[in-house]
Amino acid sequence: MSLPNREFDAIMAEYEELRRFHKSQLDEKLRKIYEAHPSILENRIAANENAAERARAAIRKDADAIARLSDERDALEAERQELLADAGLTEEDFLPVYTCPACRDTGYVDGKKCRCFKRREREVLYRDSHLESVLEEENFGTLRTDLYDRTSPDGSPSQYERMLEVIEICHSFAENFDYEHKNLLFYGQTGVGKTFLTNCIAKALLDSGHSVLYFSAISLFDLFSESLSRSANKTAENPLFALYEADLVIIDDLGTELKNSFTTGQLFHLINERLLLKKSTIISTNLLLNDLGEQYTERTASRILSCYEPILLTGADLRIKMKLEREQ
Ligand SMILES: [Zn+2]
Repeated sequence: MSLPNREFDAIMAEYEELRRFHKSQLDEKLRKIYEAHPSILENRIAANENAAERARAAIRKDADAIARLSDERDALEAERQELLADAGLTEEDFLPVYTCPACRDTGYVDGKKCRCFKRREREVLYRDSHLESVLEEENFGTLRTDLYDRTSPDGSPSQYERMLEVIEICHSFAENFDYEHKNLLFYGQTGVGKTFLTNCIAKALLDSGHSVLYFSAISLFDLFSESLSRSANKTAENPLFALYEADLVIIDDLGTELKNSFTTGQLFHLINERLLLKKSTIISTNLLLNDLGEQYTERTASRILSCYEPILLTGADLRIKMKLEREQ
């Protein structure tokens, strides 16, 4: 679980603002109550004085005074209940209101993140993933295995059978994410569902509170180029910083970008650094494995081929299949 520090701080600041807001609401409400019912205020001041005197008597161990003051406290309390009833008020009118009563707008219950914190965290993670809208439609719940071809003319596993295995790999990648450092390389022609599968994994991980960053190779290489013009320090202001920080980085459609020696160097650095940090990366590409070395560098290809699980997706273009289905 890792919300970037600055995001964590931002959420905590939201809670502080919320508490400040409710406190000012309460102050205003109490001011109005005391203005309308001065006797309730007088009773409260007397009760406060009584409490202070009782504390002093306790220090002196003055049993007589403690007994007298305790009686007085009970009388004041009884008077308060009468005054409240006359004014049509209850004790609840004097309590602060919380947006989340469970954690009293602190974000934590017994040292653990409150449900409201987790919800907010998920919103932030989704927003930062660059995937917010697409994941509603592309996730394990909407994955359609009926689109896969079940025929197998030469006796080898059908596309359907092969895809069930792949889906299982994706599920287990997401489920064991915290225990197992794994990287995936989806390769195969266009339209066989590479992006869809990475989206399924992305949603499962976002929902379990992980930070996921999606980049098409084109936008990633744009970011690499941009970073050249900025100071290349590893601080939160550097746009590349998040790439090293995220729990999962997805690079979609590698091979479609425009590259030069600087940006391919940056790709190597990213892939290598994330391996050293034991952070997972998923790459999808239309390239053949043999082409990786030619298109990038041998050392990039060798890192990918030795540290990523290659998953070949084959079969007919599912997008065309779905389009035909819609037209029928
Ligand atoms: Zn809460």
